[in-house]
Amino acid sequence: MRIIDIIRAEKPSLSFEVFPPKTSDTYQSIEKKAGQIASLSPSYMSVTYGAGGGTSDYTVSIAANLQKSFSVPMLAHLTCINSTREGVHRQLDAIRAAGIENVLALRGDIAEGAAPQADWDYHYASELVRDAVAYGGFCIGGACYPEGHPESPSQREDILHLKEKVEAGCEFLTTQMFFDNDIFYNFLYKIREAGITVPIVAGIMPVTNYKQIARIITLSGNLLPRRLLSLIDHFKDNPPAMKQAGIAYATEQIVDLFANGVGAVHVYSMNNPSVAAKIQENVSEIIK
Ligand code: FAD
Repeated sequence: MRIIDIIRAEKPSLSFEVFPPKTSDTYQSIEKKAGQIASLSPSYMSVTYGAGGGTSDYTVSIAANLQKSFSVPMLAHLTCINSTREGVHRQLDAIRAAGIENVLALRGDIAEGAAPQADWDYHYASELVRDAVAYGGFCIGGACYPEGHPESPSQREDILHLKEKVEAGCEFLTTQMFFDNDIFYNFLYKIREAGITVPIVAGIMPVTNYKQIARIITLSGNLLPRRLLSLIDHFKDNPPAMKQAGIAYATEQIVDLFANGVGAVHVYSMNNPSVAAKIQENVSEIIK
């Protein structure tokens, strides 16, 4: 099923993200955890591509097995910056052969210190979007950044490039995680004003393990609101309490988003079935 049809439907959508294993020895345990998340029957699931230390080789196989075993629609992430055009086409062939209809087209991170090279096959996600559109048959999404992409000189410029990406054929956008809904509402206002009309899926990361989040925050440059900082400060040395408090904080964000008319929320569930299950249970009546 195409993601655009799921998120355009009247019913609010709640989806989960998983990442593939780093090595073959952890494949089975990660697939098992991803399966436990899929057994919750979320609106859809996404599988990252080489992000969070995972290996890109496993993205399609994990997504394909989940879709086959649990009938949950899958969104396969695909990055282009470290790939040739032939490599990207091989991945698109594999995604199509696996029966996956949805691709999140991403640039990927540039290795530290490297500058974009003239001879690279891809420089920006919009080029991958164009290629995937020409390839045909996929519902294509892209990433967006309510606090601005860290490499962008200004949010205005970032939004101009975002518009180009949508014009290249992105049917929906998923946001980078944010911890203050007002940042998201403000971003939504700016992109609508800029003429970007595609549905936006709000990305929410439950902060259940401080060490994990610290690395992500360093990479993304996200702001942590005072309320979340004091929660982390108070509970970070008590893992069960930190987990409970983090789930409560994320639930409050999700309820507020649905209450303000946001139709689709994607949870960065970090391969953690108990976090995904608790969040889904907390909003079960809202997403019915
Ligand atoms: P782009 O849309 O290409 O934007 C990157 C930067 O280039 C921005 O600053 C933009 O303003 C600028 N830009 C765009 N076009 C132009 C232009 N024509 N001229 C000048 N500047 C331009 N990474 C992974 O490796 N694997 C994953 O699975 C993964 N999943 C993700 C999922 C989500 C929802 C998000 C938000 C991010 C994900 N990432 C993943 C991280 C992503 O790859 C990085 O954030 C990367 O740095 C940017 O990717 P992008 O697709 O947003 O790039």
